[in-house]
Amino acid sequence: MSIATPLFRFDDSYARDLEGLFEPWRAAQVPAPHLLMLNAALAAELDLDVEALSSPEGVSVLVGNAITEGSSPIAMAYSGHQFGNYSPRLGDGRALLLGELIDPQGRRRDVHLKGSGRTPFARGGDGKAAIGPMLREYVISEAMHALGIPTTRALAVVATGERIARDTPLPGAVLVRVASSHLRVGTFQYAAATGDFDLLRRTADYAIARHFADVATADQPYLAFYARVVAAQAALVAQWMHVGFIHGVMNTDNTTISGETIDYGPCAFMDRHDPGTVFSSIDHGGRYAYGNQPGILQWNLARLAEALLPLIHADAERAIAAATEVLRGFDEHYLFAWRSGMRAKLGIERDSAEVAQWIDGVPALLAQQQVDHTLFFRRLSEAARGNAAAVRSLFADPTAFDAWASTWRQLLPASEEGRLAVAQSMDRVNPIYIPRNQHVEHALAAATGGDLQPIQQLVEVISRPFVERPGLDAYAQPAPADDAPYVTFCGT
Ligand code: AMP
Ligand code: MG
Repeated sequence: MSIATPLFRFDDSYARDLEGLFEPWRAAQVPAPHLLMLNAALAAELDLDVEALSSPEGVSVLVGNAITEGSSPIAMAYSGHQFGNYSPRLGDGRALLLGELIDPQGRRRDVHLKGSGRTPFARGGDGKAAIGPMLREYVISEAMHALGIPTTRALAVVATGERIARDTPLPGAVLVRVASSHLRVGTFQYAAATGDFDLLRRTADYAIARHFADVATADQPYLAFYARVVAAQAALVAQWMHVGFIHGVMNTDNTTISGETIDYGPCAFMDRHDPGTVFSSIDHGGRYAYGNQPGILQWNLARLAEALLPLIHADAERAIAAATEVLRGFDEHYLFAWRSGMRAKLGIERDSAEVAQWIDGVPALLAQQQVDHTLFFRRLSEAARGNAAAVRSLFADPTAFDAWASTWRQLLPASEEGRLAVAQSMDRVNPIYIPRNQHVEHALAAATGGDLQPIQQLVEVISRPFVERPGLDAYAQPAPADDAPYVTFCGT
């Protein structure tokens, strides 16, 4: 079925420019689509008609049963290192790029379906997704967006009306997500592995035009492009570290070129600060633990460099030397972004080598007593206002905090007025509401059973993470310490 109403006006640059990196494909038909979540704010941002999207015709487009006139969905090809092992042919096994639209601000955005049936890249998978994981992506990606962290967005989740085979049969769903693009490190690994130099060059030119247009005129555009991806990704992972976000499956196919967070699988926010925190049921070795994320990202960016080498210089040794030099800059970019963000979180304006060194010790302070990451920073603003009791009570042995806080106070403004202003600015960067694991779990279980109220309320709460509101105290609290360890599941 094709629908004439222009729900989306697509302009498909990827399909036009990158022949060889996709397969035209259609979504599987599903029996009884039913809209679970629609992101009205995002729809407005994209100048989409919410009423039309929620109509039966709109929902059939969102789930992939129908396509708007002129739409040519594709499954994208990419490779990837998964947990360090290279897979030459991953690609959209259960996803489709529906099309690209230009938003009112002139930005090109991908509209993408996940869970829309098997594609030529499906390998052994069924091409399907369950309601729970698709709603998890909706909640967590919208939380990240509200926190000011670059991310793909969630436009809608549509239940399919079918049961899919998992450990127990589960209701199926399709997620509609929006991204500034779906170019990944794995896209370049795939293009490079074809051995087709022209395809690799076209892919890089495409990525440059789409994301870093100003480097096109640089002396060495492909090296400059690489440097920009390194900088964008270093800044991104620093923001993850600030809020205690653990991606869970930082494979190279889940690392974007744009610098947006993508592919929310077994991800979660850490409560107690511990660099070894892992939630994913399949991450046995802790490869993607909280504290490993910057190092893993650098490893992924080295894989991007390998793919780009032929473009950087015809002479392999010179190409390696130039790319290595750029990759060495990762630490500096990361530390700059991480320390700047930490100064904002701690309310410290002064920037010096001593301050930087002192800031570098903050994670150890939190880790020693496994203090709640989010509450520590949020309650610290109360201490700037003169009442340290709340933050102090997070420490089982508060003497370490007292010693730390006496240095911290010396770094605050001397005047009371100045300290109050600092406290306010801290509250603008330190969230009180994050998607706490027990609330996410409760909301996903309720939604799977047909009750959408908890997830709608959770989305409402996390969409304004910095503004404390009455009646929402439970959302600000970590799970009770005696709860079983939280485990998240990937690819389900
Ligand atoms: P992810 O872990 O979601 O990034 O997925 C890794 C790879 O597995 C991608 O190529 C996905 O398209 C593919 N994949 C994950 N789940 C399924 C599924 N149920 N059916 C087909 N392909 C899948
Ligand atoms: Mg993926």
